[in-house]
Amino acid sequence: MAGELKVDLGERTYKIHCGSGLLPVAGSILRNLNLAAPCLVVSNATVAGLYWPVLESSLKAGGFNPHLALVPDGEEAKTLQVAASLYDSALAAGIERRAAVIALGGGVVGDVSGFIAATWLRGVPFIQVPTTLLAQVDSSVGGKVAVNHPGGKNLIGAFYQPLAVIADLDTLTTLPPREIRAGLAEVIKYGVIGDAGFFAYLEEHLEGALAGDKEVLETIVLRSCAMKAAVVARDERESGLRAVLNFGHTVGHAVEAVTGFTAYRHGEAVAMGMVAAARLAVRRGMFSMEETGRLVRLLARAGLPVTLPDLDPATFRAALGHDKKIRQGQLRMVLPESLGRVRLVPVSIEEIAAVVENGAAA
Ligand code: NAD
Ligand code: MG
Repeated sequence: MAGELKVDLGERTYKIHCGSGLLPVAGSILRNLNLAAPCLVVSNATVAGLYWPVLESSLKAGGFNPHLALVPDGEEAKTLQVAASLYDSALAAGIERRAAVIALGGGVVGDVSGFIAATWLRGVPFIQVPTTLLAQVDSSVGGKVAVNHPGGKNLIGAFYQPLAVIADLDTLTTLPPREIRAGLAEVIKYGVIGDAGFFAYLEEHLEGALAGDKEVLETIVLRSCAMKAAVVARDERESGLRAVLNFGHTVGHAVEAVTGFTAYRHGEAVAMGMVAAARLAVRRGMFSMEETGRLVRLLARAGLPVTLPDLDPATFRAALGHDKKIRQGQLRMVLPESLGRVRLVPVSIEEIAAVVENGAAA
């Protein structure tokens, strides 16, 4: 069983393949893309230990000559040093203009692989094989690729679309439960920002997703990708509309920054940020208590945090001040109007701090 989805970007249009049993046929899916035989598969020891053998044999069966390059497990793989070592691997593997870089892993592997695919020979074909829920519903779609700079996350990067995304749901069975829950935060976000029916579906099927029900997971991945794809198709390079994807991220990013990016998974911080945004919207009279309750309950059922930890107010305000969506000194935040509809509105740091520091996110 597999679903397919097209991301409409003119000549950069590509397909997302999603379903069970896709890794064993990845080679034949890619055979139609007019690629050269050599390819560089980027992964880490954890993921490669589980899935390299099956991907390798399917690529070989598809006529490819795959080379594996390993990067460290975790965010430390997103550096220029690791990218430099991957350029060495690309050279050694004979990656020329029509030869692909294939990312096998979560968002970290996808981001660093995409970065070298975008820059090696000024751009070679890039294939995403996402193996975390977050990567399947979020980072593998949309074309943002990056490595980190000591001064901040994702500061060095590009917009670079993949040629195909192959999301095999079977890979999620080995994912630690905490990673599934973190991915679900972004999934729930899609419901709030644009699809009340999807939010209701999640309310009904959340336990199925947590238990690894393939039908539920396929629905979740495809609907999430469809939503992100639609937003990206209308705003590929983030000039405006794409900002709605940042619902929950203003406060979420600040929480991550203040806690040194180690205490929480990104999705956990986003969950807290979505609750804070909902509380702020309630204070403004633009969102109901009842719908806030539905959001908090769904996040809690997903095992996600819905209250903020005690943070030093001055440090937290300073972190909010670094938000990327500040224009001319004015912070803008995505706030819900109803479950399924959001709006980007100017807010002051004072207003956010008031919600968060009063424990109002509780
Ligand atoms: P991750 O890539 O670090 O993966 C999480 C952990 O799961 C890792 O330890 C990994 O080795 C392990 N893992 C991966 N697949 C597995 C599997 N199938 N079975 C068992 N273990 C597995 O984390 P992530 O949450 O996938 O991605 C986070 C990164 O994504 C961040 O760097 C973030 O900046 C980036 N991101 C990018 C975008 C974008 O648009 N490009 C969007 C969101 C996030
Ligand atoms: Mg996010």
